[in-house]
Amino acid sequence: MHKFGMVALIGPPNAGKSTLMNQYLGQKVAIVSPRPQTTRNRISGILTNDDAQIVFLDTPGIHQLRGKMNRFLLESAWNALAGSDVVVVLLDAALYAAKPHLMDKELKPLVKPVNESGRPVLIAVNKVDRVKDKPTMLPVMARASELWPEAEFVPISALRGQGTDELLSRVLEKVPEGPPMFPEDQISTAPVRFMAAEIIREKLFYSLRQELPYTTAVEIEVWDEESRKDMVLVNAVIYTAQKNHKGMIIGKQGSNLKKIGTEARKEIAELLDCKVHLELWVKVRSGWTEDPGFLRAMGLGE
Ligand code: GDP
Ligand code: MG
Repeated sequence: MHKFGMVALIGPPNAGKSTLMNQYLGQKVAIVSPRPQTTRNRISGILTNDDAQIVFLDTPGIHQLRGKMNRFLLESAWNALAGSDVVVVLLDAALYAAKPHLMDKELKPLVKPVNESGRPVLIAVNKVDRVKDKPTMLPVMARASELWPEAEFVPISALRGQGTDELLSRVLEKVPEGPPMFPEDQISTAPVRFMAAEIIREKLFYSLRQELPYTTAVEIEVWDEESRKDMVLVNAVIYTAQKNHKGMIIGKQGSNLKKIGTEARKEIAELLDCKVHLELWVKVRSGWTEDPGFLRAMGLGE
């Protein structure tokens, strides 16, 4: 008997959704960031073993948002929910144990859509490695089981890989029978050039302390596998909505951009398993987060 299923990873920003997916895949498919709201598009990771194939759908964190881009983000999460066989809701247990008042505020937007999805729900109570005083988790569990009465709970640390096997076996119980849909060596349904753009975006975030990520986007302009036999040539543009950010991204004599480029190139080369030549450009495009055409071009709209 072989199983195949789509599993939506849903939760507030920073709950650990991308970390969990990467943990299962044993490599980085989605961006993990200490800053919330890094995952923009829906990113899938494919886990294949002998008798099952699971497609995890990582989603942007759900919270109450305004603006066009944020509406696209929400839509992307709800689409993942609609396309899934099982829903895994991630909670930051360490955060709620310390600040219980945040729990309802952060989880409220999730409750109804998840309950009404009709899908089996698993609650991954995450970051237990950070909870020193375990009894502080009890009110968190109690409140979560009020919010999702039908759900099963699994405490995990997505980062350390604790409880994640248990969570996976619970997921597998709920996934329908079916043949694999993807070759066993495929790790994502996203095209590699999209993944490359995500890698650049990640390096960009880590290189800057300011809250830039929100108004930056990366577009791959050239993806050339033909010109050179031993190398892929990539040109990418980093778009920023604010003029004064351009200088920050580039850095003194280009130092920051160079650093981003070097780190991203290494990782893209690993992903492709071949040499990569990467050129990065920075362009200002004001108001792009409200421009539907541009959002669509960036894969942020339907
Ligand atoms: P997402 O927004 O839900 O995708 O969250 P991320 O996966 O990007 O993680 C947000 C932050 O929480 C990152 O700094 C992660 O390293 C951290 N994190 C995620 N899971 C755990 C965990 O189980 N334990 C600890 N200590 N940190 C975690
Ligand atoms: Mg994420």
